[in-house]
Amino acid sequence: MISPAVTALRCVLCATEYPPAADRYVCDACGPAGTLDVEYDWDRVLAGWGREALAADPDSTMWRWGPMLPLATDAMRSSLAIGATPVYEAPRLAAAAGVRRVWVKDEGRQPTGSLKDRASAMVAAIGAGFGAEVITTASTGNAASALAGVTASMGLRSVIFVPEAAPPAKVTQLLAYGATVMLVQGGYSAAFELSQQAVARYGWYDRNTGINPYTTEGKKTALLELAEQLGWSMPDAVFVAVGDGSIIGGLHKGLVELHRLGWIDRIPRLFGVQAAGSDYLAQAYESGEEVAAKPAIAAHTVADSISADLPRDRVKAMRAVRHTGGTFVRVPDEAILAAIAVLARGCGVFAEPAAAAAWAGVERAVADGLLDGDATVAVLATGSGLKDVAAAQRAVAAAGSRPMTIEPNLEALEQALEEPG
Ligand SMILES: *Cc1c(COP(=O)(O)O)cnc(C)c1O
Ligand SMILES: [Zn+2]
Repeated sequence: MISPAVTALRCVLCATEYPPAADRYVCDACGPAGTLDVEYDWDRVLAGWGREALAADPDSTMWRWGPMLPLATDAMRSSLAIGATPVYEAPRLAAAAGVRRVWVKDEGRQPTGSLKDRASAMVAAIGAGFGAEVITTASTGNAASALAGVTASMGLRSVIFVPEAAPPAKVTQLLAYGATVMLVQGGYSAAFELSQQAVARYGWYDRNTGINPYTTEGKKTALLELAEQLGWSMPDAVFVAVGDGSIIGGLHKGLVELHRLGWIDRIPRLFGVQAAGSDYLAQAYESGEEVAAKPAIAAHTVADSISADLPRDRVKAMRAVRHTGGTFVRVPDEAILAAIAVLARGCGVFAEPAAAAAWAGVERAVADGLLDGDATVAVLATGSGLKDVAAAQRAVAAAGSRPMTIEPNLEALEQALEEPG
């Protein structure tokens, strides 16, 4: 059930407006690059709602933003507690990086362990209102886990297409939730293409990133929540890892909407962090190429969640960075793995490689002179470290950390404690 406050779905390329519909995915004229923006009647959004109502709302989940979301109020929603993830100020990280203040928002605390829960909950609710019984997506892993968890909570079926090489923890999570799981030979692109063929053949509801416009609406709640948690005072920069570009596009939409409401007085620079081995958007940004027609670039990185040869939400991602005066930075896999330990030790947040990449991006930006010593920075830790234990093991090994095996007596302990750690 789409909210009556939604006025149109608008193509990011040609600005054609389509009437709101659950299954209007992309622009007919522009094809898959023509992703859609959900447009609202803001008078209607604000009828009986505003910052005071928000402050008085006991619901801390993403649904507290209901009036700014595309879902009708009486719609079927996942009962999982999605949203309300903590924001930690991290003074030791700020000092180590050489900036004034750092906040880390821990999206690893979501029910299925990543920010993707926000998008999956939104899409599943829209799909349920549309009468969908099966919801499908291709994913590098987290969007799939999120969809599987959310659909399980709602009694719906999910059919998931993931790359054969997806981390075992993510695949296991899917199976635990009862999803039908296809490990597709080849990478994420192959999984994506097959999911599109399946949607066409079986009529399943399509949650795919960069296809379903409601994913952006779910992801924007991460920014709305961050703004409220920071007392409506935005930092200079927000860092987030970028694969398909959907999260950064969602953050941007949230920023623009809050700014238009006058709830924040400035729009921070959005920094999209890409793995050096999956840097389509960084390349396009530097060369000034039009991304709508730019072909795929083979991707290889330890950060599976941001491994995307053809970022599906590339138009929104590019717009997010350009409009906010941000940039794309790239970080090599070694820096990503190192950032796992730095983040965990510096503020207690254990992040998966893609999530830690955002921190590696802050270090890179400071080194490149893109942030000065007075900068204030928010970092989205998008997924939990438990999602990819094999990568975390590599990270701690690279940090020189190892456990000590000892006999069960104090002498052995004392000897072990004297060994150079
Ligand atoms: C999906 C994901 C990202 C990247 O989001 P995109 O929308 O693909 O750019 C970053 N980190 C984690 C943990 C993710 O799951
Ligand atoms: Zn179009």
